[in-house]
Amino acid sequence: MSDPETFRGSCMCGSVTYEFDGALDGVVCCHCTQCRKQTGHHFATVEADKNRFRLTNDSSLTWYQASPIARRGFCNNCGSSLFWDMFDAPKIDILAGSVDGSLGVGVKAHVHVSEKGDYYELAGDAAHFPKGRKG
Ligand SMILES: [Zn+2]
Ligand SMILES: [Zn+2]
Repeated sequence: MSDPETFRGSCMCGSVTYEFDGALDGVVCCHCTQCRKQTGHHFATVEADKNRFRLTNDSSLTWYQASPIARRGFCNNCGSSLFWDMFDAPKIDILAGSVDGSLGVGVKAHVHVSEKGDYYELAGDAAHFPKGRKG
C-alpha cells in the first residue's frame, strides 16, 4: 500500500485527461469477454474513489453501456480505453496503462479467468477468480 498521492493520466491523444488522489493497492486484470473485446486482450485497472477522481478534460470522452450495471469510458478520437464505471459502486476502475508514470504496485488479482483467452498464461502469484472478485 503506497501513501496517498495524486495520480494523473490521459488517453493517447490527450483530449481526455483525469486525476485522482489515493493509495493504490494493486492492479486487477479482468479477462471477461467484454473486456477482451474492448481492449483486444484483457483489462488491467486500478481503483479510485469517485469522490477523489476528477475529469480535467472530457472533450472526447464517450461512454458505452455494455451491461446494465456499468458503463465503459473511451476516447472517441484516438480510441483509448479509459474507465469502467459501475453505477452503484463508490469507486471507478481506471485502465492502468492510461495512468502516467509509476504506479508503484503490481498485479494483485485476475478476475473472470473462466473467460480468458487460450493463447496466454497468467504469470506471477496474483490471486485468480473464475468469475468476479466475489465469484
Ligand atoms: Zn484520445
Ligand atoms: Zn471484464
